[in-house]
Amino acid sequence: MVREKEYDYLIVGAGLFGSVFAHEMTKQNKKCLVIDKRNHLGGNVYCEEKEGINVHKYGAHIFHTNDKRIWDYVNQFATFNNYVNSPVSLSKGKLYNLPFNMNTFYQLWGTKTPREAKAIIDEQVAKYGTKSPKNLQEQALSLVGKDIYETFIKEYTEKQWGKKATELPAFIIKRLPVRFTFDNNYFNDRYQGIPIGGYNTIINGLLKGIDTKTNVDFFAERQQLEALANKIVYTGKIDEFFDYKYGQLEYRSLRFEHELHETNNYQGNAVVNYNDASYAFTRIIEHKHFEFGKQDKTIITKEYSETWDRGKEAYYPINNDKNQEIYKRYREESQQLNDIIFGGRLAEYRYYDMHQIIASSLTKVQEISGIKP
Ligand code: FAD
Ligand code: UDP
Repeated sequence: MVREKEYDYLIVGAGLFGSVFAHEMTKQNKKCLVIDKRNHLGGNVYCEEKEGINVHKYGAHIFHTNDKRIWDYVNQFATFNNYVNSPVSLSKGKLYNLPFNMNTFYQLWGTKTPREAKAIIDEQVAKYGTKSPKNLQEQALSLVGKDIYETFIKEYTEKQWGKKATELPAFIIKRLPVRFTFDNNYFNDRYQGIPIGGYNTIINGLLKGIDTKTNVDFFAERQQLEALANKIVYTGKIDEFFDYKYGQLEYRSLRFEHELHETNNYQGNAVVNYNDASYAFTRIIEHKHFEFGKQDKTIITKEYSETWDRGKEAYYPINNDKNQEIYKRYREESQQLNDIIFGGRLAEYRYYDMHQIIASSLTKVQEISGIKP
């Protein structure tokens, strides 16, 4: 077969979506070139090794899924350790276990049985909750009552989103588990862990033998790049692709401050959330604990939530009605373009976890090729 162009696919973005796509299409004998504007591969799951510690450069990443197919898929590339995410929260001077469970209720109220804890929550929900919550505050009060809302949610959420809880959509809070057992596991999923050797092991496995280029911005060299491949997979911001013609989508950005400390254990846990507004950051990550590290030193990261502008990294889509309307117009236009495939959290303007991104990329491969990966 004579190829029209050097590559079958130019993949813009070396995150999980692009890397899974490239891996699967290469297996189907398609020739792929993966580019990224950053100076490394991996997108937001990239880890940087410092002092023998895998530092999650773009924030804590814990792999979790209920889907055995996705779990088996990632296990082709790395062995996972038995890390279970159990963050603690510093709120009004005291430490509490998360997610909201019997330990949290005991620390908050001294309740010792599910019945005692449930009675307090039910009473507060009856007093402060509503039948059809219209915003995050109403949703939280209707789910967990006033004490939990005020101790753990209100100030953290307002720092995280830069908006009043009454101006935020209810769904943001729905994913936090509430349990009447003494179980500090942050996730309900069956499979969970951190890849031994860090996430780069998975990315390197996915991209092994595939042409890649870093420090290449698609928009800076668009014509030359387009000439190289028959089709493009685009995983960058969808509004940027269309030169913001229907308006700019909003995001929340983050700033990470990494610090090296001359101690082998700074906070005793991988994740400590700082609920109170008096702390400018939302959480501190101590990376070595993800891998039960025994290093003499430690690296911590303070995570600050920030207003996004075009000069900053876009991390969280702000899925309110206004942005959804704008996104819909871009999506409709993107669906008219047969040679360009849009995928991933920036091109789909959706807050996807890693397992969802992998599933979405595998589905796309199957849609295009007719072959189930
Ligand atoms: P990305 O990883 O963002 O990759 C897109 C790539 O495209 C980037 O590398 C970017 O540089 C590149 N790009 C964009 N535009 C261009 C261009 N013009 N030219 C060239 N390259 C371009 N998920 C979990 O499952 N568990 C967690 O604990 C978890 N924690 C998270 C914590 C934080 C703070 C954040 C922000 C996300 C977290 N996630 C977590 C979600 C996870 O990061 C994503 O699901 C996943 O990394 C998205 O992959 P992607 O390929 O869609 O995007
Ligand atoms: N949240 C909160 N207090 C906490 C942790 C989370 O109020 O201690 C809220 C906050 O609004 C956050 C949402 O729950 O945006 C989802 O939290 P998660 O930890 O899943 O967020 P992510 O890790 O994706 O930033």
